[in-house]
Amino acid sequence: MTQPISVKPSTLITPYGGELVNLVVPPEAVNDLKAYASHLPSLQLSERSICDLELLASGGFSPLDRFMSQDDHQRVLEEMRLSSGHLFPIPVTLPADHGPAIHLDADVALRNAKNDLLAVMTIETVYEWDIVQVAQLVFGTLDVRHPLAEMHRWGKLNISGRLQVLQLPHHADFQELRLSPAQTRARLEAYGYENVVAFQTRNPLHRVHEELIKRATQRMDGVLLLHPVVGLTKPGDVDHYTRVRTYKALVQCADDADRLLLSLLPLAMRLAGPREALWHALIRRNYGANYLIVGRDHASPGIDSRGKPFYGPYDAQALVEQYSAELGVGVIPFEELVYLPDEDRYEEVSHVSSQARTASISGTQVRQEYLNKGRRLPDWFTRPEVAEILAEAYPPRHQQGVCIWFTGLSGAGKSTTAEVLAVLLLERGRQATVLDGDVVRTHLSKGLGFSKEDRDTNIRRIGFVAAEVVRHGGVAICAAVSPYRVTRNEVRDMVGQEHFIEVFVDTPLEVCEQRDAKGMYAKARRGEITGFTGIDDPYEPPTHPEITLDTVARTPEENAHRILAYLIQRGFVRADVRDKLLNEAPGLAEGDI
Ligand code: ADP
Ligand code: ADP
Repeated sequence: MTQPISVKPSTLITPYGGELVNLVVPPEAVNDLKAYASHLPSLQLSERSICDLELLASGGFSPLDRFMSQDDHQRVLEEMRLSSGHLFPIPVTLPADHGPAIHLDADVALRNAKNDLLAVMTIETVYEWDIVQVAQLVFGTLDVRHPLAEMHRWGKLNISGRLQVLQLPHHADFQELRLSPAQTRARLEAYGYENVVAFQTRNPLHRVHEELIKRATQRMDGVLLLHPVVGLTKPGDVDHYTRVRTYKALVQCADDADRLLLSLLPLAMRLAGPREALWHALIRRNYGANYLIVGRDHASPGIDSRGKPFYGPYDAQALVEQYSAELGVGVIPFEELVYLPDEDRYEEVSHVSSQARTASISGTQVRQEYLNKGRRLPDWFTRPEVAEILAEAYPPRHQQGVCIWFTGLSGAGKSTTAEVLAVLLLERGRQATVLDGDVVRTHLSKGLGFSKEDRDTNIRRIGFVAAEVVRHGGVAICAAVSPYRVTRNEVRDMVGQEHFIEVFVDTPLEVCEQRDAKGMYAKARRGEITGFTGIDDPYEPPTHPEITLDTVARTPEENAHRILAYLIQRGFVRADVRDKLLNEAPGLAEGDI
């Protein structure tokens, strides 16, 4: 006789809509579906859509079980509800462009950027969507500073239909912390509490966040689900590798680790403030939480192009509170917490007297005033364990990479100045790699000619190498004519605006021609070579170079010192005694010291 299996009733809140959606096909069906998909047209998903697919497939967006149809989409925009009536404040759509793969009742293979097969989708609806309407209704703004202004680059159609997911997107990092909704629920269940308080974050956790968490768990008798977003967050945020290291460090030193679960959420944030906060609550319910901490400026995209915040500081709290009963997720609200140095504690602003001294450090100050300058974050602001990880990930400026990009006519003096600069940097303890246009053409760009296309390819190759050098903390000194403005700007983007210094070697054509160190101008004038920059090919001078050099009135040494002084001023090089003396007495030459 078989024993009846007794299932212990769950202590946790049920998923929204009753049960967790699961779109992953059973293992025995995988091979057939893979074989079938190999005959289908493919659609490559963006990183954002892959995050969305993962949450759809694993039930994080329950009861939503597909990218939204037109009916769902329209009702979500207007009423924050699916056509079934369930709350859902954010559109989750699969944008695509017109193409042979996109037609009704066809199956399409969904793949990632590396072409790994993720899912098969049956296209049941195709519809156009209106970017202005989405921007206005979901984000409440058309401002281009909103991070979701990226919608301009999305496909003009949305497609929707049944999904059969072969595998959840693979993540090689922090696998022990990547728990699906079902796995998170199982882990939470084991703690044995009825209440689960979720904490959302996209930032490294400082003392203020710890204080929020501590106060919230004191208020509610339960487990804290520390649930940081590791999908897409706001461009410029601290990368998730660094953040997760800080979360792990915090969990290790937490007093109540037996009431804390750290799990990573592969969500692609929209930075939609209030609507996003409500979405966060819904998602956390699916992961087993019945409370969400919502403080000041939750899911905030910062300030718009007029310098005004996109949303009020407590708009998000108000919206989640409005729907809290219906959604079944309570809000644990917090006002802004500030630090009181005289009492060495944090307090909510409304409890602080107007005479009390308060202290705070903004995210920008953390980067500019502390990390870039190699200053340690103070103890009251960040735990030393966390400060150390941040200091490691964001070394001070003089250990960060930088690219000095010389541009100008042939014979202007780029290489000559670059060589002097390289020596000055080596003397001051910085490693420098010189990428000289002529030298690069003998190996990295061997075989390339001087057509516009080949010149651009050459510059992009130099830019690529420079970007790698800079990423690894080195100094890349590039000296190439680089005649086209657009290509130079492309390289600036590759390296990163903050780390790119364009030096315009502004030597008049007559001077270059007179110098004619390589005899090229003479050849060009005789017509023996064609397409020579300045003679029969254009040179587009930079419009906003960081530095412009005059090689007629100044020697290569003087010019190299000018660049060095600029690098010192920006913090990329530490001044030595001679630099300080030269600075104080500009009339001195280096040989005098
Ligand atoms: P998000 O952008 O998703 O809100 P953050 O990491 O910036 O992520 O914030 C996490 C949570 O902590 C949010 O609920 C936010 O409102 C709250 N929070 C952050 N800083 C403060 C603060 N100084 N006072 C009150 N709440 C805060
Ligand atoms: P580019 O790299 O811009 O093609 P080079 O540095 O190879 O130019 O050549 C510049 C030539 O001009 C060299 O022969 C150099 O000695 C000479 N020259 C004369 N005055 C200067 C100066 N002030 N700065 C740089 N080069 C100068």
